[in-house]
Amino acid sequence: MFNRLNNTKIRPDHLERQAFIYIRQSTLVQVRDNTGSKARQYDLQQRALNLGWPQESILVIDQDQGHSGASAVGRDGFQSLVSEVGLGHAGAVLSLEVSRLARSCSDWYRLIEICALTNTLVIDEEGTYDPNQYNDRLLLGFKGTMSEAELHWLHCRLQGGKLEKAQKGDLRFRLPSGLVFDPLDHIILDPDEQVQQAVRLVFDLFDQFGTAMAVVQYFNTNQLLFPTRFWGGSKDNQLIWQPLNQGRMLAILHNPAYAGAYVYGRTQTRTKLLPGETPRVKGRTRQVKVSDWPIVLKDVHPGYISWNQFLLNWQRLDDNRTWQPQERRGAVREGAALLQGIVLCGRCGRRMSVRYLQDGGVWAYVCAQAHSQRAEKTCQFLIGNEIDAALTQIFLDAMQPAQLEISMAAFEQIEGRAQQVDQQWQLRLERTRYEAELAQQRFFAIDPDNRLVARSLEHDWNDKLTQVEQLEHEYAAFPKWSDHLVSPQERQRILALAQDLPAIWQAPTTSHAERKQLLRFLIKDVTLTRQSKTIQIHIRWQTEAVTTTEVAPRPKSYEIRRTQPAVVERVRLLAHDHTDQQIADRLNQAGLVPGLGGSFTARKICWIRYAYQIRTNCPKAPELCTTGQRGDGRYSARVAAHLLNVNVSTIAGWCKAGTLDNIQETPHGPRWISLPPDTITTLRKPVQRRWQKNLPA
Ligand SMILES: [Zn+2]
Repeated sequence: MFNRLNNTKIRPDHLERQAFIYIRQSTLVQVRDNTGSKARQYDLQQRALNLGWPQESILVIDQDQGHSGASAVGRDGFQSLVSEVGLGHAGAVLSLEVSRLARSCSDWYRLIEICALTNTLVIDEEGTYDPNQYNDRLLLGFKGTMSEAELHWLHCRLQGGKLEKAQKGDLRFRLPSGLVFDPLDHIILDPDEQVQQAVRLVFDLFDQFGTAMAVVQYFNTNQLLFPTRFWGGSKDNQLIWQPLNQGRMLAILHNPAYAGAYVYGRTQTRTKLLPGETPRVKGRTRQVKVSDWPIVLKDVHPGYISWNQFLLNWQRLDDNRTWQPQERRGAVREGAALLQGIVLCGRCGRRMSVRYLQDGGVWAYVCAQAHSQRAEKTCQFLIGNEIDAALTQIFLDAMQPAQLEISMAAFEQIEGRAQQVDQQWQLRLERTRYEAELAQQRFFAIDPDNRLVARSLEHDWNDKLTQVEQLEHEYAAFPKWSDHLVSPQERQRILALAQDLPAIWQAPTTSHAERKQLLRFLIKDVTLTRQSKTIQIHIRWQTEAVTTTEVAPRPKSYEIRRTQPAVVERVRLLAHDHTDQQIADRLNQAGLVPGLGGSFTARKICWIRYAYQIRTNCPKAPELCTTGQRGDGRYSARVAAHLLNVNVSTIAGWCKAGTLDNIQETPHGPRWISLPPDTITTLRKPVQRRWQKNLPA
């Protein structure tokens, strides 16, 4: 029958060219299991023979087994078929149904277009079509559209079924290590104790270290392994142990199954067209935010952590990220600077970085982003040691038991208020439900024949029901006051811990990272602003309360070395009637110290007077700024001349004559003269005032 109906379309010129038989199944599973369809497809060879093509002109294209027909991309067989048709080599294209050729209209229409141009027939199980004939072309067009639509419906039906199953938590996924299905298909903890222990260790370590990488490092340095159970296939349920890596660690922390929750829609796949000579479509899988997960069923099976802990871990991982540093604190690091990651610049609002100086003994909080990015001036550079000390004090004060008692009392107040709010909600819900019931009663009470009234009453009832539903939704999303309740036992534990906190903080076994972690539990961030003489510290606690304090900035190095103003004043007073040596002695006796440490000497006093322009009473002899004495008590010639009130040349004469006890260490060098007090009294010339000189003898 087939032959008789269609042979009018098959002409000798078709039979002279080749007949291409296209064979395809979408998935490898179909190829493996659906052998009936495969056999039917290969039977097309017989049909081509019956239609008159000789055996040698029949070509089977079956390269595309296991490829979906949704797109021509990646289907080499289909593409070679199109090119053969385009070259005019094909007399007919045979396929079981058009959906085998293309499930995408664009690919399908292109094929028909080329077939029409090259006068190629399209043959399927139901008939022979000549794309040059309008009716056939119309039919082929319909078939293409229908096959694409069929794919769409299939997809919708599958997706719908999947969603429905997921909503009940019945859609099964591969379980992460540590959880298994029991014979009744319930999810339970892995009965293997060692597996359980490994999973628990991962969560405990993350709790302790706060970073995924630290846990991985711990596992690897201690040569610990993490279990994996095979899923499906010949090795189903077999257990192997492998080293833990970062990807695995992140997958564990991100998996809500460990919190006993069933979640559907954690990832989303989006396709993207990659440019190039042959454009490729690439799917990209992205993680969906926890708040946007479409289906979340909590506490459906036993887990290793609580849901709150799961959210906390997620938050912590997010916080640890270093990209977009403006929004994240980054992980706690090993250095001594307490505010690392939580310090903000009070001038420009950017996050400040830490710089360690002097082998890490001193650290600074630096706002240098504007400098490094736009070559502007460094915004702030603040030495951190004093700031950290002040902050520690505030932190420990806040954690004192007395302070905590007050905070707990405040908590109770908040709880009380929250309970009142909750009551309000309950009342609101009750009222709305009552109104809905009333509307229902009114609807049932009316005579059904009175359609106009019945319709409006039904409308009213519907509205009320919607209101109830909406309100219930809102109430479910509203935070519950019981979540924040602190039980008396917990309260005792917190207070006991607070008593130990200063000791824990100071203990040498407590690492910097642990101190920082402690701090972060309470403090959200700290803003530093340099004022003219102080540094202002704003501490924002996790409760959003703000504490403000100020510290004096660390003095600059020249400020540390500078003589104290009180000492300078003392020197100014004493200089009237004291020599430098006497001033130095007086200051040393008073227990004062120079800026650089040690004790005062005549030379240091001389410098102080020089620097602060303090004059002495001996204008004639600048040498007298110092005592003019050497270590052995000898004077220079000029000082001796001044002390004896004679000329320097007179001194030289007296030295040569041996009147004065002197030494000359090098020939023609300076003479150093010894002047005991009695020598001065005998040799000193009386001071003659000008008016005395003019007196008659
Ligand atoms: Zn700044």
